[in-house]
Amino acid sequence: MLFYDYTLEMLENYFSERDENKAKAKILYKALYRNGLRLSDITELSEKTKAIIADDFSFELPAEAALHDDGETAKVLLRLSDGSMVETVLMRHGYNTGVCVSTQVGCSMGCTFCQSGRMKKIRSLTAGEIVSQVLYMSKRFGNIGHISVMGIGEPLDNFDNVKAFMEIASSPYGLSLGGRHITLSTCGIVPYIKRLDEVKCGFNLAISLHSADSAIRSEIMPVNRRWGIDELIKTVKEYSEKNKQRIAFEYILIDKLNDSAEQAEKLAALVKDINCFVNLIPYNPTENSEYRRSENADVFFDVLKKRGINAIFRREFGGSIKAACGQLCAECAEHAEYAECGK
Ligand code: SAH
Repeated sequence: MLFYDYTLEMLENYFSERDENKAKAKILYKALYRNGLRLSDITELSEKTKAIIADDFSFELPAEAALHDDGETAKVLLRLSDGSMVETVLMRHGYNTGVCVSTQVGCSMGCTFCQSGRMKKIRSLTAGEIVSQVLYMSKRFGNIGHISVMGIGEPLDNFDNVKAFMEIASSPYGLSLGGRHITLSTCGIVPYIKRLDEVKCGFNLAISLHSADSAIRSEIMPVNRRWGIDELIKTVKEYSEKNKQRIAFEYILIDKLNDSAEQAEKLAALVKDINCFVNLIPYNPTENSEYRRSENADVFFDVLKKRGINAIFRREFGGSIKAACGQLCAECAEHAEYAECGK
C-alpha cells in the first residue's frame, strides 16, 4: 500500500483495526508530512510499530524522467511505480512557489484546444500519486506555498481520489496548505461540482468556460454536450452562494473563435450575477493546431470591464513560459499569483 493514499481518518482506522492507539496516525502524519522525517527517524513510535508500518506501506516517491527548468517554471516528467508518466509543474513567484499537479494519465475530455485532450485517458491517479507529486517537488525544489489541481486530467472525472488528495493536502497534520492556497479547475462535470462541498477545506474553484455560446462551447469542449452552459452556470452559482466562494472563470482567447466583442457581451451577461472573476488566458499554441492566439484581447477585456465584470488579463504573462514547457503551466501560474496577492 502506498502510504500517501491514506487520509488521516483511514490511517486512524488502520491503527484501530490493529488494536493500536489511533493517536499514532497523527504522530506518523506529522512526522512524515510536517517535519519531513523518515520512518526510521521517528522517536515517538516504538520499533515494533515502525516495523509493522514499514511492512505494510511503501513510501516511495515517483522518479524523475525529465526536467525543463527556465528559472521561473520547472516542468518535471515523473514516472510512477507502474511506469506511467505524469507532468508536474513548479512555478516560482518571488517568495511564493506553486505546484501544478496532474490527476490522470491522459484525459478523456477531448477539448479541441488542449494537448492533453488528445492523449486519451489511460487511468486515474490515486490520491497518493497526486500527493507524491507535491512531495517530490518540495523535496526537489523546496517549500510549496500553493497547489493548482489543473495539470493533466480532469479532476472531477476522478472525484474520490481527488477529494482524498485535497483532504491530505489541507490537513494540518498533512501537507497543511490552507484551502485558499489550493485551486481546483474543472471543465464542468456538473454532478461532481454539486458534490464539491464534501471537500471541506475552502479551496478556490476555477471553471474552464472558454465560451459563453452554447454552440461554440460544444464544438471546443465535448463535455458541454452532456452538461450545457445553463446547467453549469446554475450549479456554479448555487455552489458559490452556498459556500460563499468567489469563482474563477477561465477563458482562453482564441483568434476569431471566441474573442469578438459580441462574445464578450455574452460572457458578461452569463456571469454577471455570480460572485466571480474572469481569467483571460492567452491561447498557448499546441502541435498541429489550427487555432491562433487572439489579437482582440484588449477589446474583449474592455467589454467585460464596461459591464462591471472583474477580469484579469496579462499581456506579458508567463514571459519565459514556453509552450514547449507545458501549455498548462501558464494558467497555473496565474492562479498561484492570484492566491498569493489575495485579490
Ligand atoms: N481538466 C481541467 C484541468 C486541466 S486543464 C480543466 O479543464 O479545467 C487546465 C487548464 O488549462 C484549463 O482551463 C484548460 O482549458 C487550459 N488549457 C488547455 N489547453 C490550453 C492551451 N492550449 N492554452 C491555454 N490554456 C489551455
